[in-house]
Amino acid sequence: MQQTVFAVVARAVNYRDHDRILTLITRERGTITATARGCRKPQSKLMSCAQPFVYGEYELAEVKGRWYVRSCQIREIFYNLRLDPMVLTAAGHATQAVREFANPEEENAKLFTLLLRTLARLCEEKADPISILAFFLAKLLDFAGFCPEMQACVCCGAEENLGWFDGESGGVVCRDCARHLPTAKPISPTCRQLIGRMVQTPTAGYEALAAQLSPVAGEAYAHLLSSYAATAAKPLPHLHSVLPQVT
Ligand SMILES: [Zn+2]
Repeated sequence: MQQTVFAVVARAVNYRDHDRILTLITRERGTITATARGCRKPQSKLMSCAQPFVYGEYELAEVKGRWYVRSCQIREIFYNLRLDPMVLTAAGHATQAVREFANPEEENAKLFTLLLRTLARLCEEKADPISILAFFLAKLLDFAGFCPEMQACVCCGAEENLGWFDGESGGVVCRDCARHLPTAKPISPTCRQLIGRMVQTPTAGYEALAAQLSPVAGEAYAHLLSSYAATAAKPLPHLHSVLPQVT
């Protein structure tokens, strides 16, 4: 069987002398593992498409239940991701998170577009990885059906004193309920409002929100990470804890 898919390389692991096993996040059918045979030989046509974060149109062939890359038309290599360790780590987190939520064999254009936009934003000069990841997580949770509740207390429905956020419970909580939730963390009114706005904003609308988001990005990102950890199989580490030397 042959199939052409639009895909981003999430992982590339060397195999045997000249091959690489690629984990591809595809738009058409979730995550696929495919071998790029001979891609590490000099002059191989597959050399440049068998690198992490490359986006392209991959032509795959299935042989005895395994997928092989036949050819690829590269669309974008997102070169700038590799110039800054913080940006590279952020790109790795976004890719890993999409892998967790991409259902096998399922078409998911929304999630795929979100990943492509996020990688492109991270490549921009003066990109703020924390703001970009905060927006990415808000949209990811929304698309996956885990949109955090920001308008009323998730425990009792109260609409006042919403000064806490609890990722485990799925959104903001009021003062009374927060007393009984050991994992609830304080949230500022600006941050609460902005998480609500990020969820409402389409994937393409980040740029219009970026300036307002920037002052509370770290706070929003930490709250959204706790929501993500409560819903995904594997939690993502906070960017700052991965790179403590970067402040
Ligand atoms: Zn409450």
